[in-house]
Amino acid sequence: MAKIILTGDRPTGRLHIGHYVGSLRRRVQLQNTGDFDEIYIMIADAQALTDNMENPEKVRENIVEVALDYLSAGLDPARSSLFIQSQIPELTELSFYYMNLVTVARLQRNPTVKSEIQMRNFENSIPVGFFTYPISQAADITAFKATTVPVGEDQEPMIEQTREIVRKFNYVYGETLVEPEILLPDNEASMRLPGTDGQAKMSKSLGNCIYLSDDAATVKKKVMSMFTDPGHLQISDPGKVEGNTVFTYLDAFSTKAHFEEYLPEYQDLEELKAHYRRGGLGDVKVKKFLNNVLQETLEPIRQRRAQYEKDIPYVYEVLKKGSETAENKAAQTLSEVRRAMRIDYFDDEELIRRQQQAFNERKAREVEGRRRGRGGRK
Ligand code: ATP
Ligand code: MG
Repeated sequence: MAKIILTGDRPTGRLHIGHYVGSLRRRVQLQNTGDFDEIYIMIADAQALTDNMENPEKVRENIVEVALDYLSAGLDPARSSLFIQSQIPELTELSFYYMNLVTVARLQRNPTVKSEIQMRNFENSIPVGFFTYPISQAADITAFKATTVPVGEDQEPMIEQTREIVRKFNYVYGETLVEPEILLPDNEASMRLPGTDGQAKMSKSLGNCIYLSDDAATVKKKVMSMFTDPGHLQISDPGKVEGNTVFTYLDAFSTKAHFEEYLPEYQDLEELKAHYRRGGLGDVKVKKFLNNVLQETLEPIRQRRAQYEKDIPYVYEVLKKGSETAENKAAQTLSEVRRAMRIDYFDDEELIRRQQQAFNERKAREVEGRRRGRGGRK
């Protein structure tokens, strides 16, 4: 079976380092292994509109920002199709069919939907489109027959729901769709990177982000004012590493090479953590190290972005080509889906022939019946 990746982001803002460690970094690695037959990276504008209905300009303006982040992070249009969700009408069609396979109660139980409804104060006024976005996400994944979905931990309930829809569809209509596997980041800190304020998740909607496109001074300022251990007041105090955002970021980003380069007095992160726990290690020193690590990671991304920003028509060309490739694939799947669902009327010559024959036979029987009837009266 072909190995296929589908994943994406909502164009509700520029991408941040949570996206990077949660999904983007992995996509680029997977792309560069050459192990995958097809890679689709989607800018989910239709999904973004489900909770930004009144703000189409925001979504429109952020398409190019997300595309620039993709290209500068290393996604290569020659190997990955970068496309825009709304340009693939098959995805909307597929969502509509999937709606029959999911109950309202099941959607209400989806933990991600639950918490996002709360976050947006939607309790009493949930747009139906927002409520059903897990269904549309299932359509996005399955339209490409994706086998692998590299995403952060918040997406786990979505993938589970997708797998359920696939099983139900295949059971009712016959084996057609592919059940995708989630591919979570391999380190705990990257599953759900907290915000710079220590909140559970770095999120565009919460304004606690370090963006991939932030300049060096902005990154430094954000790092130096980051949340640490509120109980660690004096350098000599023992400090807590758990729930300490600076250390969580180091978990997600730092390597042994970073220690050799910027903090050679420590072997690795474990040694640094041990010192912090014992006491005698100040926040400023750790933050300066984190700043060095982040700058080293982000600088090449920033430089590539500056290049792509000079040629915005090229970026749109990439998206247009990617959308064409994506639509071809989705159209192929949809024709299989329509056949399985028995709604492929015009392509089914057998159906037309069989119905014609049935009508002919009925007519013949009627004629025969009338002939006998007339004969009987004689
Ligand atoms: P929004 O607030 O508009 O929902 P978001 O910041 O949650 O935006 P999404 O576009 O919903 O971002 O998520 C895109 C991808 O990035 C998903 O794979 C998601 O798992 C991952 N992701 C988002 N935030 C984080 C994070 N803080 N840590 C790890 N992964 C993340
Ligand atoms: Mg989100």
